[in-house]
Amino acid sequence: MPFSKLGLSDSILKSVAEQGYKTPTPIQEKAIPVILTGKNLIAAAQTGTGKTASFVLPILEMLREGQTQRKKRIRALILAPTRELAVQVEDNIAKYSKHLNLTSLAMYGGVDAKQQKQRLIEGVDILVATPGRLLDMYTQRAVHFDELEILVLDEADRMLDMGFIEDINKIIERLPADRQNLLFSATLSKQVRVLAKTAIDNPVEISVSPDTTTTPQIDQWLITVDKDKKSALLSHLIKENQWDQALIFIETKHGAAKLVSQLEKRGIKAEAIHSGRSQEVRAQLLADFKSGKLQLLVATGVAARGIDIEDLTRVINYDLPYPPEDYVHRIGRTGRAGASGEAISFVSKDDFKNLCMIESRLGHLITRKEIEGFAPRKEVPISILNYVPKNKRNGERQNSKNKPAKAK
Ligand code: AMP
Repeated sequence: MPFSKLGLSDSILKSVAEQGYKTPTPIQEKAIPVILTGKNLIAAAQTGTGKTASFVLPILEMLREGQTQRKKRIRALILAPTRELAVQVEDNIAKYSKHLNLTSLAMYGGVDAKQQKQRLIEGVDILVATPGRLLDMYTQRAVHFDELEILVLDEADRMLDMGFIEDINKIIERLPADRQNLLFSATLSKQVRVLAKTAIDNPVEISVSPDTTTTPQIDQWLITVDKDKKSALLSHLIKENQWDQALIFIETKHGAAKLVSQLEKRGIKAEAIHSGRSQEVRAQLLADFKSGKLQLLVATGVAARGIDIEDLTRVINYDLPYPPEDYVHRIGRTGRAGASGEAISFVSKDDFKNLCMIESRLGHLITRKEIEGFAPRKEVPISILNYVPKNKRNGERQNSKNKPAKAK
Protein backbone atom coordinates (compact mmCIF):
# COMPACT_ATOMS: atom_id res chain seq x y z
CA MET A 1 0.00 0.00 0.00
CA PRO A 2 1.43 3.44 -0.86
CA PHE A 3 1.57 6.29 1.68
CA SER A 4 -0.97 8.21 -0.41
CA LYS A 5 -3.70 5.70 0.51
CA LEU A 6 -3.36 6.21 4.25
CA GLY A 7 -5.42 9.39 4.50
CA LEU A 8 -2.57 11.86 4.96
CA SER A 9 -2.62 15.26 3.26
CA ASP A 10 -0.21 16.39 0.56
CA SER A 11 1.98 18.55 2.77
CA ILE A 12 2.68 15.57 5.02
CA LEU A 13 3.17 13.19 2.10
CA LYS A 14 5.66 15.67 0.69
CA SER A 15 7.87 15.59 3.78
CA VAL A 16 7.59 11.79 3.96
CA ALA A 17 8.83 11.61 0.38
CA GLU A 18 11.63 14.03 1.22
CA GLN A 19 12.78 11.56 3.89
CA GLY A 20 13.14 9.01 1.13
CA TYR A 21 10.42 6.69 2.48
CA LYS A 22 8.90 4.74 -0.38
CA THR A 23 6.26 2.62 1.33
CA PRO A 24 4.81 2.53 4.84
CA THR A 25 6.25 -0.04 7.23
CA PRO A 26 3.78 -2.65 8.60
CA ILE A 27 3.16 -0.71 11.83
CA GLN A 28 2.52 2.46 9.83
CA GLU A 29 0.10 0.68 7.55
CA LYS A 30 -1.82 -0.67 10.53
CA ALA A 31 -1.67 2.24 12.96
CA ILE A 32 -2.11 5.35 10.82
CA PRO A 33 -5.68 4.62 9.61
CA VAL A 34 -6.79 3.63 13.14
CA ILE A 35 -5.34 6.76 14.73
CA LEU A 36 -6.94 8.96 12.09
CA THR A 37 -10.39 7.68 13.12
CA GLY A 38 -9.73 9.11 16.59
CA LYS A 39 -9.73 5.74 18.32
CA ASN A 40 -7.53 4.76 21.24
CA LEU A 41 -4.72 2.40 20.35
CA ILE A 42 -2.21 0.14 22.02
CA ALA A 43 0.53 -1.19 19.82
CA ALA A 44 3.32 -3.69 20.29
CA ALA A 45 6.13 -2.40 18.12
CA GLN A 46 9.82 -2.12 18.70
CA THR A 47 12.27 0.57 17.86
CA GLY A 48 13.32 0.14 14.27
CA THR A 49 9.87 -0.65 12.91
CA GLY A 50 9.04 2.93 11.97
CA LYS A 51 6.79 3.29 15.02
CA THR A 52 7.57 6.97 15.56
CA ALA A 53 6.19 8.00 12.18
CA SER A 54 3.22 5.67 12.77
CA PHE A 55 1.93 8.00 15.48
CA VAL A 56 3.56 11.29 14.50
CA LEU A 57 2.15 11.39 10.96
CA PRO A 58 -1.53 10.95 11.94
CA ILE A 59 -1.12 13.36 14.85
CA LEU A 60 0.20 15.99 12.44
CA GLU A 61 -2.75 15.28 10.17
CA MET A 62 -5.28 15.72 12.96
CA LEU A 63 -3.70 18.86 14.37
CA ARG A 64 -2.58 20.52 11.18
CA GLU A 65 -5.43 23.01 10.80
CA GLY A 66 -5.56 24.41 14.31
CA GLN A 67 -3.21 25.82 16.90
CA THR A 68 -3.05 26.17 20.65
CA GLN A 69 -5.35 28.94 21.80
CA ARG A 70 -3.63 30.16 24.94
CA LYS A 71 -0.12 30.42 26.33
CA LYS A 72 1.38 27.38 28.04
CA ARG A 73 -1.17 25.07 26.47
CA ILE A 74 -0.38 22.05 24.33
CA ARG A 75 -2.55 19.92 22.07
CA ALA A 76 -0.57 16.68 21.96
CA LEU A 77 1.68 15.21 24.60
CA ILE A 78 4.17 12.45 23.92
CA LEU A 79 5.73 10.93 27.02
CA ALA A 80 9.10 9.29 26.45
CA PRO A 81 11.47 7.53 28.88
CA THR A 82 14.71 9.42 28.18
CA ARG A 83 15.88 12.77 26.96
CA GLU A 84 17.59 11.12 24.00
CA LEU A 85 14.34 9.57 22.87
CA ALA A 86 12.43 12.81 23.49
CA VAL A 87 14.93 14.70 21.33
CA GLN A 88 14.76 12.01 18.68
CA VAL A 89 10.98 12.00 18.50
CA GLU A 90 10.85 15.78 18.36
CA ASP A 91 13.45 15.69 15.63
CA ASN A 92 11.15 13.45 13.60
CA ILE A 93 8.18 15.73 14.26
CA ALA A 94 10.18 18.69 12.98
CA LYS A 95 11.09 16.79 9.80
CA TYR A 96 7.59 15.54 9.08
CA SER A 97 5.93 18.88 9.85
CA LYS A 98 8.27 20.94 7.69
CA HIS A 99 5.43 22.03 5.41
CA LEU A 100 2.92 22.67 8.21
CA ASN A 101 2.42 25.47 10.68
CA LEU A 102 2.83 23.43 13.82
CA THR A 103 5.28 23.85 16.66
CA SER A 104 6.91 21.19 18.78
CA LEU A 105 9.26 21.02 21.74
CA ALA A 106 11.35 18.35 23.45
CA MET A 107 11.35 18.88 27.21
CA TYR A 108 13.58 16.91 29.56
CA GLY A 109 15.47 17.24 32.80
CA GLY A 110 19.15 17.87 33.41
CA VAL A 111 19.12 21.23 31.65
CA ASP A 112 17.97 24.69 32.69
CA ALA A 113 14.17 24.96 32.46
CA LYS A 114 14.12 28.65 31.53
CA GLN A 115 14.28 28.18 27.80
CA GLN A 116 11.68 25.40 27.87
CA LYS A 117 9.33 27.67 29.84
CA GLN A 118 9.81 30.45 27.34
CA ARG A 119 8.98 28.11 24.46
CA LEU A 120 5.78 27.04 26.21
CA ILE A 121 4.78 30.67 26.58
CA GLU A 122 5.42 31.27 22.88
CA GLY A 123 3.16 28.33 22.03
CA VAL A 124 3.71 24.63 21.46
CA ASP A 125 1.32 22.29 19.65
CA ILE A 126 3.15 19.03 20.30
CA LEU A 127 5.19 18.50 23.43
CA VAL A 128 7.54 15.54 23.78
CA ALA A 129 8.55 15.19 27.42
CA THR A 130 10.13 12.93 29.97
CA PRO A 131 7.74 12.34 32.89
CA GLY A 132 9.81 13.89 35.70
CA ARG A 133 10.49 17.22 34.02
CA LEU A 134 6.91 17.47 32.80
CA LEU A 135 5.54 17.04 36.33
CA ASP A 136 7.97 19.68 37.57
CA MET A 137 6.83 22.11 34.92
CA TYR A 138 3.19 21.36 35.65
CA THR A 139 3.71 21.97 39.37
CA GLN A 140 5.36 25.28 38.53
CA ARG A 141 2.32 26.12 36.35
CA ALA A 142 4.57 26.42 33.31
CA VAL A 143 2.32 24.08 31.35
CA HIS A 144 -1.45 23.46 31.40
CA PHE A 145 -3.30 20.55 29.95
CA ASP A 146 -6.78 21.94 29.31
CA GLU A 147 -6.34 22.10 25.53
CA LEU A 148 -4.82 18.65 25.30
CA GLU A 149 -6.39 16.36 22.69
CA ILE A 150 -3.93 13.48 22.29
CA LEU A 151 -1.67 11.56 24.67
CA VAL A 152 1.04 9.17 23.50
CA LEU A 153 2.97 6.87 25.83
CA ASP A 154 6.04 5.95 23.82
CA GLU A 155 8.18 2.97 24.85
CA ALA A 156 5.78 2.36 27.72
CA ASP A 157 7.59 -0.79 28.85
CA ARG A 158 10.78 1.16 29.18
CA MET A 159 9.11 3.93 31.18
CA LEU A 160 7.83 1.30 33.60
CA ASP A 161 11.27 -0.33 33.81
CA MET A 162 12.71 3.05 34.69
CA GLY A 163 10.25 3.52 37.53
CA PHE A 164 8.12 6.29 36.04
CA ILE A 165 4.77 4.70 36.86
CA GLU A 166 3.87 7.14 39.66
CA ASP A 167 4.81 10.18 37.62
CA ILE A 168 2.88 8.88 34.64
CA ASN A 169 -0.22 8.24 36.74
CA LYS A 170 0.01 11.70 38.27
CA ILE A 171 0.23 13.23 34.81
CA ILE A 172 -2.66 11.18 33.44
CA GLU A 173 -4.88 12.22 36.37
CA ARG A 174 -4.38 15.83 35.39
CA LEU A 175 -5.28 15.45 31.70
CA PRO A 176 -8.74 16.19 30.28
CA ALA A 177 -10.83 13.00 30.23
CA ASP A 178 -11.90 13.59 26.66
CA ARG A 179 -8.72 12.79 24.77
CA GLN A 180 -7.30 10.21 22.39
CA ASN A 181 -4.73 7.83 23.88
CA LEU A 182 -2.00 5.93 22.08
CA LEU A 183 0.42 3.54 23.72
CA PHE A 184 3.50 2.04 22.08
CA SER A 185 5.62 -0.61 23.70
CA ALA A 186 8.12 -3.22 22.57
CA THR A 187 6.01 -5.81 24.35
CA LEU A 188 2.55 -5.70 25.82
CA SER A 189 3.61 -7.23 29.13
CA LYS A 190 1.28 -7.60 32.10
CA GLN A 191 2.50 -4.34 33.66
CA VAL A 192 2.06 -2.46 30.40
CA ARG A 193 -1.50 -3.76 30.16
CA VAL A 194 -2.21 -2.59 33.71
CA LEU A 195 -1.00 0.88 32.75
CA ALA A 196 -3.03 0.76 29.54
CA LYS A 197 -6.14 -0.13 31.50
CA THR A 198 -5.88 2.88 33.79
CA ALA A 199 -5.30 5.32 30.94
CA ILE A 200 -6.98 3.96 27.87
CA ASP A 201 -10.61 3.01 27.27
CA ASN A 202 -11.48 0.44 24.62
CA PRO A 203 -8.27 0.53 22.66
CA VAL A 204 -7.74 -1.08 19.30
CA GLU A 205 -4.78 -3.41 19.73
CA ILE A 206 -2.22 -4.01 17.03
CA SER A 207 1.18 -5.60 16.87
CA VAL A 208 3.89 -6.19 14.37
CA SER A 209 5.70 -9.42 14.74
CA PRO A 210 9.24 -9.16 16.05
CA ASP A 211 10.32 -11.09 12.98
CA THR A 212 9.56 -8.11 10.80
CA THR A 213 12.02 -6.03 12.77
CA THR A 214 14.89 -8.17 13.85
CA THR A 215 15.58 -11.32 11.95
CA PRO A 216 15.45 -10.59 8.25
CA GLN A 217 17.77 -7.62 7.94
CA ILE A 218 20.02 -8.12 10.93
CA ASP A 219 22.81 -10.59 11.02
CA GLN A 220 22.96 -11.59 14.69
CA TRP A 221 25.71 -13.71 16.14
CA LEU A 222 27.59 -14.15 19.34
CA ILE A 223 31.16 -14.82 20.29
CA THR A 224 31.89 -16.88 23.38
CA VAL A 225 34.79 -15.36 25.25
CA ASP A 226 36.08 -15.09 28.83
CA LYS A 227 35.06 -11.93 30.59
CA ASP A 228 38.64 -10.72 31.07
CA LYS A 229 39.35 -11.11 27.35
CA LYS A 230 36.45 -9.03 26.07
CA SER A 231 38.37 -5.80 25.58
CA ALA A 232 41.24 -7.57 23.80
CA LEU A 233 38.69 -9.32 21.58
CA LEU A 234 37.01 -6.02 20.75
CA SER A 235 40.34 -4.40 19.83
CA HIS A 236 41.20 -7.41 17.71
CA LEU A 237 37.90 -7.28 15.78
CA ILE A 238 38.09 -3.52 15.26
CA LYS A 239 41.60 -3.76 13.82
CA GLU A 240 41.19 -7.01 11.94
CA ASN A 241 37.94 -5.98 10.23
CA GLN A 242 38.73 -2.28 10.02
CA TRP A 243 35.31 -1.41 11.36
CA ASP A 244 34.24 2.00 10.24
CA GLN A 245 31.48 2.31 12.82
CA ALA A 246 30.23 0.50 15.90
CA LEU A 247 27.92 1.31 18.75
CA ILE A 248 29.13 -0.69 21.73
CA PHE A 249 26.72 -1.34 24.59
CA ILE A 250 28.04 -1.92 28.07
CA GLU A 251 26.22 -2.20 31.38
CA THR A 252 27.92 0.30 33.66
CA LYS A 253 29.32 3.84 33.52
CA HIS A 254 32.50 2.65 35.12
CA GLY A 255 32.83 -0.18 32.60
CA ALA A 256 32.34 2.28 29.72
CA ALA A 257 35.12 4.58 30.92
CA LYS A 258 37.43 1.63 31.53
CA LEU A 259 36.81 0.18 28.10
CA VAL A 260 37.54 3.50 26.39
CA SER A 261 40.89 3.71 28.16
CA GLN A 262 41.73 0.06 27.37
CA LEU A 263 41.00 0.72 23.70
CA GLU A 264 43.08 3.86 23.81
CA LYS A 265 46.05 1.90 25.12
CA ARG A 266 45.79 -0.25 22.02
CA GLY A 267 45.72 2.81 19.81
CA ILE A 268 41.95 2.84 19.19
CA LYS A 269 39.96 6.02 19.65
CA ALA A 270 36.52 5.69 21.21
CA GLU A 271 34.26 7.83 23.37
CA ALA A 272 31.85 6.91 26.14
CA ILE A 273 28.30 8.16 26.49
CA HIS A 274 26.54 7.63 29.81
CA SER A 275 24.42 9.43 32.37
CA GLY A 276 27.53 10.78 34.12
CA ARG A 277 28.32 13.04 31.17
CA SER A 278 26.63 16.36 30.65
CA GLN A 279 23.79 16.75 28.20
CA GLU A 280 25.98 18.99 26.03
CA VAL A 281 28.78 16.43 25.84
CA ARG A 282 26.32 13.65 25.06
CA ALA A 283 24.67 15.67 22.31
CA GLN A 284 28.06 16.52 20.80
CA LEU A 285 29.22 12.89 20.89
CA LEU A 286 26.02 11.75 19.24
CA ALA A 287 26.36 14.39 16.54
CA ASP A 288 29.98 13.36 15.92
CA PHE A 289 29.00 9.71 15.80
CA LYS A 290 26.16 10.41 13.38
CA SER A 291 28.38 12.45 11.11
CA GLY A 292 31.05 9.75 11.11
CA LYS A 293 33.64 11.97 12.79
CA LEU A 294 33.55 9.59 15.75
CA GLN A 295 33.65 5.94 14.74
CA LEU A 296 33.32 4.05 17.99
CA LEU A 297 30.85 4.96 20.67
CA VAL A 298 30.64 3.04 23.95
CA ALA A 299 27.23 3.53 25.54
CA THR A 300 25.37 2.39 28.62
CA GLY A 301 21.87 1.14 27.89
CA VAL A 302 20.04 4.10 29.37
CA ALA A 303 22.16 6.69 27.58
CA ALA A 304 21.82 4.87 24.29
CA ARG A 305 18.08 4.64 24.43
CA GLY A 306 16.58 6.59 21.60
CA ILE A 307 19.76 6.91 19.60
CA ASP A 308 18.52 6.95 16.05
CA ILE A 309 21.21 6.77 13.45
CA GLU A 310 20.48 6.18 9.83
CA ASP A 311 22.47 3.33 8.36
CA LEU A 312 24.06 2.19 11.61
CA THR A 313 25.76 -0.96 10.46
CA ARG A 314 27.03 -2.50 13.66
CA VAL A 315 25.93 -2.92 17.23
CA ILE A 316 28.09 -4.73 19.78
CA ASN A 317 26.70 -6.09 23.04
CA TYR A 318 29.87 -6.02 25.09
CA ASP A 319 27.69 -7.19 27.96
CA LEU A 320 24.41 -8.97 27.45
CA PRO A 321 21.53 -6.85 28.66
CA TYR A 322 18.81 -7.68 31.13
CA PRO A 323 15.81 -7.71 30.64
CA PRO A 324 15.81 -9.58 27.31
CA GLU A 325 13.61 -6.93 25.66
CA ASP A 326 16.63 -4.64 25.87
CA TYR A 327 18.48 -6.95 23.54
CA VAL A 328 15.73 -6.59 20.97
CA HIS A 329 15.71 -2.81 21.43
CA ARG A 330 19.44 -2.65 21.03
CA ILE A 331 19.70 -4.65 17.90
CA GLY A 332 16.80 -2.57 16.60
CA ARG A 333 19.36 0.25 16.37
CA THR A 334 20.79 -1.39 13.32
CA GLY A 335 19.24 -2.68 10.14
CA ARG A 336 16.44 -0.17 10.51
CA ALA A 337 13.51 -0.14 8.14
CA GLY A 338 15.11 -2.30 5.51
CA ALA A 339 18.79 -1.43 5.83
CA SER A 340 21.12 -4.29 6.72
CA GLY A 341 23.22 -4.50 9.83
CA GLU A 342 25.04 -6.80 12.20
CA ALA A 343 24.62 -7.31 15.92
CA ILE A 344 27.42 -9.09 17.71
CA SER A 345 27.27 -10.14 21.34
CA PHE A 346 30.23 -11.03 23.53
CA VAL A 347 29.10 -13.82 25.83
CA SER A 348 31.04 -15.12 28.80
CA LYS A 349 29.94 -17.76 31.28
CA ASP A 350 28.62 -14.99 33.55
CA ASP A 351 26.21 -13.94 30.81
CA PHE A 352 24.63 -17.39 30.58
CA LYS A 353 21.36 -16.62 32.39
CA ASN A 354 20.83 -13.50 30.35
CA LEU A 355 21.63 -15.45 27.20
CA CYS A 356 19.00 -18.07 28.06
CA MET A 357 16.41 -15.36 28.56
CA ILE A 358 17.30 -13.59 25.33
CA GLU A 359 17.28 -16.74 23.24
CA SER A 360 14.00 -17.83 24.84
CA ARG A 361 12.55 -14.41 24.00
CA LEU A 362 13.74 -14.71 20.39
CA GLY A 363 12.54 -18.30 20.21
CA HIS A 364 15.80 -19.48 18.68
CA LEU A 365 19.46 -19.84 19.45
CA ILE A 366 21.81 -17.15 18.20
CA THR A 367 24.57 -18.39 15.90
CA ARG A 368 27.80 -18.91 17.84
CA LYS A 369 31.32 -18.17 16.68
CA GLU A 370 34.66 -18.59 18.32
CA ILE A 371 37.50 -16.31 17.34
CA GLU A 372 40.92 -17.86 17.07
CA GLY A 373 43.02 -17.00 20.07
CA PHE A 374 39.97 -16.07 22.17
CA ALA A 375 38.41 -19.46 22.88
CA PRO A 376 36.99 -19.27 26.41
CA ARG A 377 38.51 -21.22 29.25
CA LYS A 378 35.11 -21.20 30.92
CA GLU A 379 32.74 -22.75 28.45
CA VAL A 380 29.31 -21.18 27.89
CA PRO A 381 26.65 -23.94 27.88
CA ILE A 382 23.97 -24.13 25.23
CA SER A 383 20.82 -22.30 26.32
CA ILE A 384 17.67 -23.91 27.48
CA LEU A 385 14.97 -22.38 25.27
CA ASN A 386 11.75 -21.56 27.16
CA TYR A 387 13.97 -20.70 30.08
CA VAL A 388 12.05 -19.08 32.91
CA PRO A 389 14.06 -17.38 35.63
CA LYS A 390 13.40 -18.80 39.08
CA ASN A 391 11.58 -15.73 40.31
CA LYS A 392 9.07 -15.96 37.45
CA ARG A 393 8.30 -19.63 37.93
CA ASN A 394 4.80 -20.56 39.06
CA GLY A 395 4.14 -20.52 42.73
CA GLU A 396 7.43 -18.92 43.68
CA ARG A 397 7.51 -15.66 45.45
CA GLN A 398 9.74 -12.99 44.11
CA ASN A 399 12.64 -12.26 46.39
CA SER A 400 16.03 -10.77 45.88
CA LYS A 401 17.76 -14.12 46.14
CA ASN A 402 15.92 -15.32 43.07
CA LYS A 403 16.56 -12.28 40.95
CA PRO A 404 18.10 -13.09 37.58
CA ALA A 405 21.73 -12.20 37.25
CA LYS A 406 22.38 -8.74 35.95
CA ALA A 407 25.28 -8.70 33.54
CA LYS A 408 27.90 -6.34 34.89
P1 AMP B 1 11.56 4.07 14.62
O1 AMP B 1 11.07 2.65 14.69
O2 AMP B 1 10.48 5.05 14.74
O3 AMP B 1 12.69 4.29 15.59
O4 AMP B 1 12.14 4.30 13.13
C1 AMP B 1 13.19 3.58 12.60
C2 AMP B 1 13.85 4.24 11.40
O5 AMP B 1 13.11 3.97 10.23
C3 AMP B 1 14.02 5.73 11.47
O6 AMP B 1 15.36 6.02 11.12
C4 AMP B 1 13.07 6.28 10.43
O7 AMP B 1 13.61 7.44 9.83
C5 AMP B 1 12.98 5.14 9.44
N1 AMP B 1 11.66 5.02 8.78
C6 AMP B 1 10.44 5.24 9.33
N2 AMP B 1 9.46 4.99 8.45
C7 AMP B 1 10.07 4.57 7.32
C8 AMP B 1 9.58 4.14 6.04
N3 AMP B 1 8.28 4.07 5.77
N4 AMP B 1 10.49 3.78 5.11
C9 AMP B 1 11.83 3.83 5.39
N5 AMP B 1 12.35 4.23 6.57
C10 AMP B 1 11.47 4.58 7.53
